[in-house]
Amino acid sequence: MSEYDYDLFVIGAGSGGVRAARLAAQLGKRVAIAEEYRIGGTCVIRGCVPKKLLVYGSRYGGEIEDARAFGWSYENVQFDWLKLIHNVQREVDRLNGAYTRTLEKAGVERFLTRATVAGPHNVTLADRHTPITTEYILVATGGTPAFPNVPGSEHFISSNECFQLDALPESIVILGAGYIGMEFASIFAGLGVDVTVIYRGDQILRGFDMDLRDEVAEALRDRGVDLRMNTNIASIEKDEGGFRVALTDGDEIPASRVMAATGRRPNTSGLGLENIGVELGKNGRVVVDAYSKTSLDSIYAVGDATDRANLTPVAIREGTAFVETVFEGLPKAMDYSFIPTAVFTEPEIGTVGLGEEDAREKHSVDIYKASFRPMRATISGRGEKVFLKLVVDAGTDKVLGVHMVGPDAAEIAQMAAISLKLGATKTNFDSTMALHPSVAEELVTMRQKWEPPTPIKGSDAAA
Ligand SMILES: Cc1cc2nc3c(=O)[nH]c(=O)nc-3n(C[C@H](O)[C@H](O)[C@H](O)COP(=O)(O)OP(=O)(O)OC[C@H]3O[C@@H](n4cnc5c(N)ncnc54)[C@H](O)[C@@H]3O)c2cc1C
Repeated sequence: MSEYDYDLFVIGAGSGGVRAARLAAQLGKRVAIAEEYRIGGTCVIRGCVPKKLLVYGSRYGGEIEDARAFGWSYENVQFDWLKLIHNVQREVDRLNGAYTRTLEKAGVERFLTRATVAGPHNVTLADRHTPITTEYILVATGGTPAFPNVPGSEHFISSNECFQLDALPESIVILGAGYIGMEFASIFAGLGVDVTVIYRGDQILRGFDMDLRDEVAEALRDRGVDLRMNTNIASIEKDEGGFRVALTDGDEIPASRVMAATGRRPNTSGLGLENIGVELGKNGRVVVDAYSKTSLDSIYAVGDATDRANLTPVAIREGTAFVETVFEGLPKAMDYSFIPTAVFTEPEIGTVGLGEEDAREKHSVDIYKASFRPMRATISGRGEKVFLKLVVDAGTDKVLGVHMVGPDAAEIAQMAAISLKLGATKTNFDSTMALHPSVAEELVTMRQKWEPPTPIKGSDAAA
């Protein structure tokens, strides 16, 4: 019998923590987990799941309009925000219950309180005095929204509050143009809210392939979203109708709500890690090796707390690899290659592998692009467009990246990820039979290499 109360104590019952706790308990280990908010974590309670449900909700307006051209008619189409939010929260509650039951069934002891680390083998719970001893500690505390420091920053809401608004705002200013900001810009625009996005950089969605960024920016502008680049929020003041948002370029925007989507930071402050010698990096991220081990042998960390690739499937895979490494004797280093990613804007992005700019840093590349109207738009008349792009290593013929903007792009990127992981070449893509009529068939029928436009000789001199 071990000298410790538990074999494993997990701090944080989100995607990574729940997976690790369940798997370790199923191996017969004595496992406990602490959660200070709600079991399920960010993804289930206030991230991926409720967001995707809002995305669905926001798309119906356009689809109902499209349906008219397909012969449907109806009157008095109305939207009820509270009904949507209520139904989304009902699903969140169901998942919260399902995650709780999963832990219960596996025999994981649950503490619904905040936990801190008191030593290499010690955890303290906020609601009791007796310290807990454990052979291993897994830090799976996730991330939390980071707010910029401007006068009036107390008026910012984050994505967390967007899931609980008691009324749909008439207008919203969103600071930040990363994927969370752009997804909410798209959701609110789809629900009829007047949306302005403020971003200090040149273009939305930094880090994605430039063509994808340009395509989505153009589509959002077409849908009426006011994208203001190269500016920032100087201050926010409350007034009778809502808020007045002053920009650094001198402009002022009235808004019913002001959202900060300015990134997330690892949720490690006050956790006690630095006091016992666990190395923390930028913004408080827990520094770990390829096996998710921290600078102390008994403490591991997974998920957003380590700020590696902040996505749910990654946190889950890291939790699984931790259990295999520590409790099954099968050391499993994480592999972060070819992680498919989506941005659930309307139109949505699906992407896997290297974008053109990143690929060009290390490879000589061939680029293939296609842009067309999806078949349904020929009847609906909607100005939607599909964009597809392949980034291919010119030397080895390997496909380095598959990028798409358009309907079902996320689903397509997931399948494309399998072929890229297997090392598929452009020749393999070309020899794959097309599925007709589909949007994705274009991925296997692109034959013409894209050439950058040649500058007209002497044009500079003429200017
Ligand atoms: C709006 C939004 C949309 C997103 N959309 C997507 C998406 O579409 N796809 C995708 O893959 N990812 C998405 N993500 C990211 C995804 O949610 C995270 O990457 C994932 O949840 C990380 O899991 P985790 O286990 O590291 O942490 P989390 O799921 O954040 O769980 C950490 C848990 O620890 C708890 N906790 C923290 N400190 C303590 C403490 N001291 N004691 C006790 N409990 C504590 C927290 O309350 C939380 O429940 C989104 C995130 C947001 C915010």
